[in-house]
Amino acid sequence: MTRLPVAFAGGEAPAGITPGAPRPALLDRPVTALDGVGPAVSKRLGGLGLRTVRDLVEYRPRRYEEPAAERRIADLFGEEEVVIAGTVRGVTVRRPRRRLSIVQARIGDETGEITAVWFNQVWLADRLKPGTRVRVRGALSGRGRGEFTVRSYDLDGASETSDYAPVYSASEELTVKKLRELVGLALPFAGDDWDVLPAALRRDRRLPLRGDAVWALHRPASPDEAEAGRKRLAYDELLVLQLGLQRRGRDRAVAEAPALGAPGELVRRYQEALPFALTAGQESAIAEIDADLARTRPMDRLLQGDVGSGKTVVALYALLRAVENGRQGALMAPTETLAEQHFLTVEALCAELAVRPVLLTSSLSAAEHGAARAALAAGEAQIAVGTHALIQEQVDFADLAVAVVDEQHRFGVEQRRALAEGRAPHLLHMTATPIPRTLALTVYGDLAVSEIAKPPADRKPIVTAWVTQDRSPEAYTRLRRHLDDGRQAYVVCPLIEESETSLARAAEQEAERLQRSELRGYRVGLLHGRLRPAERRDLMGRFKAGELDVLVATTVIEVGVDVPNATIMIVQEADRFGLAQLHQLRGRVGRGGEQSYCLLVSRAKEELTDAARARLEALVATTDGFELAEVDLELRGEGQLLGTRQSGLSDLRFTRLRTDRALLEQARGDAEALLDYDGPLNEAVDRVFAATEDARLA
Ligand code: ADP
Ligand code: MG
Repeated sequence: MTRLPVAFAGGEAPAGITPGAPRPALLDRPVTALDGVGPAVSKRLGGLGLRTVRDLVEYRPRRYEEPAAERRIADLFGEEEVVIAGTVRGVTVRRPRRRLSIVQARIGDETGEITAVWFNQVWLADRLKPGTRVRVRGALSGRGRGEFTVRSYDLDGASETSDYAPVYSASEELTVKKLRELVGLALPFAGDDWDVLPAALRRDRRLPLRGDAVWALHRPASPDEAEAGRKRLAYDELLVLQLGLQRRGRDRAVAEAPALGAPGELVRRYQEALPFALTAGQESAIAEIDADLARTRPMDRLLQGDVGSGKTVVALYALLRAVENGRQGALMAPTETLAEQHFLTVEALCAELAVRPVLLTSSLSAAEHGAARAALAAGEAQIAVGTHALIQEQVDFADLAVAVVDEQHRFGVEQRRALAEGRAPHLLHMTATPIPRTLALTVYGDLAVSEIAKPPADRKPIVTAWVTQDRSPEAYTRLRRHLDDGRQAYVVCPLIEESETSLARAAEQEAERLQRSELRGYRVGLLHGRLRPAERRDLMGRFKAGELDVLVATTVIEVGVDVPNATIMIVQEADRFGLAQLHQLRGRVGRGGEQSYCLLVSRAKEELTDAARARLEALVATTDGFELAEVDLELRGEGQLLGTRQSGLSDLRFTRLRTDRALLEQARGDAEALLDYDGPLNEAVDRVFAATEDARLA
């Protein structure tokens, strides 16, 4: 089988390029620097975000073609995809209909002859001159007329028809075939002189040369080879980002936080008061937090756990550690609803412990706000629960020692910095967004991570079903069955309106409609973003107390709402929601020991995009947030990972979510050792890091 050489370094050089000549500068030139790439193609490449030669070289294949066996013509049988190699013996063009042209070429090898067929590619007829060597990949057509339908072909060498040909994310204007060709034009610019990694480090880590790595990525002879190439590139991007982050961290003066010593009486009583035993994940998170709090170096820890894994219990523990040391804690949430929710939980637990919490949101009345602030300034209130307004309005704490930031990915980098620099409390960030540890570390640099990997043991995975609109009545029948058993339910309204106000209005109408029809006779509450805080608090309180059966809601219930007795949820027009959003919504049920259900109702199948279908199927298939994050990444493409949009992660192209932890740890360690290193690698750091920083601050 013929193939392009994988290892270009030392192999044959493609025509027109002198091997060994210094190339790196050329990599950053626009794609038009490549022979045969003009403004039109350049524009189409731009549509895919590919602007420079480097962009092409580093364009990661989405996947690779499955290998297909090479067959002799006489041995063709069956309909599986195979490759045949032979010589053109004759060609004809037919036009049976308008808009349909068929190119038929007789192809022969030493065992026989067959007719290869191309549809709507008339121009090929000129190139398929008798005597031309061809390789075609395709299959015998089902009709058994000895015709071979061609899926891909090569007239010189083999790249299209080779095993593991790369498949790129293409666009309407740029086919995969064309992209392969363009990447092929760019690849020679990535010679081994392009490697900026210190040679000793590369040898120690047993990494291939970077030039070889990109060849392996685009022209692999096996999946292992492709993976080895990808890994090298992932290592580079992780190392470069780690270096940038660590250098920035080193240069920033570190403020001091109060050391809180060992856990005391208050948190012991707190743990006793909990109606359940902590899970192993919660225990180890708490131990890690205790270790951080014992130091004067401010804690900077990310507490990560899927929805319902029990992060809030841990957060409260951290706050109480401040309180038992005579200091204060703050819990900050991204939305008012979530802050109020947290407050309900905190308040209940604090009452037993004689601790005074206050709720602080931007929409309190001036008098309420003043009173809460005064209590915090005087140290009379020990815990503040609120939205980010808490920080923005510069509340004066008597002695803030621990701050917990919920849903950290929504928390601006600048805000975080303001809090950290102003007061140097210990910081705990919580997130249910399954940003894989690798990515979290990359975005947040030195942040330590605690993970609650498993939900409480009594939790049963939520059963998810997907039905189309016509079967919506069945969904409501099931929902009513839960209500009749004394359980509660959520109904999530369609996401059709643009503004919060019109969304609220649509939700109101929907709630009224349901109250007249499917939910007649049940106690229905309506939660949307336009409710006043007092109304919302009252509503959530009543739902939690079981005075309402159903909460009809817009996506404001997306995070944090916690009612264990709610066991079923219907999401209307679920196809309009994003994957991450649906996963978060679903996490509102399944929070107690009862089996819970999530019923996704979509529009008719014909109306759905492929991506929408894939999202719904993924949700039915798994409740694992990490798996869903991967699917999401797959569907939405790089840099679009849920929750990471603001973080400048679009630069992470080669790192793979779940499998690269070891690689990241290695890159982190290596970056530490390279902190003071001065060499060509720094140019890469400057280039990538400057771009990342811009994206973060944008
Ligand atoms: P998260 O914030 O991670 O989504 P929560 O902290 O809100 O999750 O916890 C979800 C639910 O599980 C709450 O009702 C909480 O009381 C309950 N819970 C938390 N920890 C445990 C545990 N160890 N055992 C049983 N239930 C728990
Ligand atoms: Mg929570």
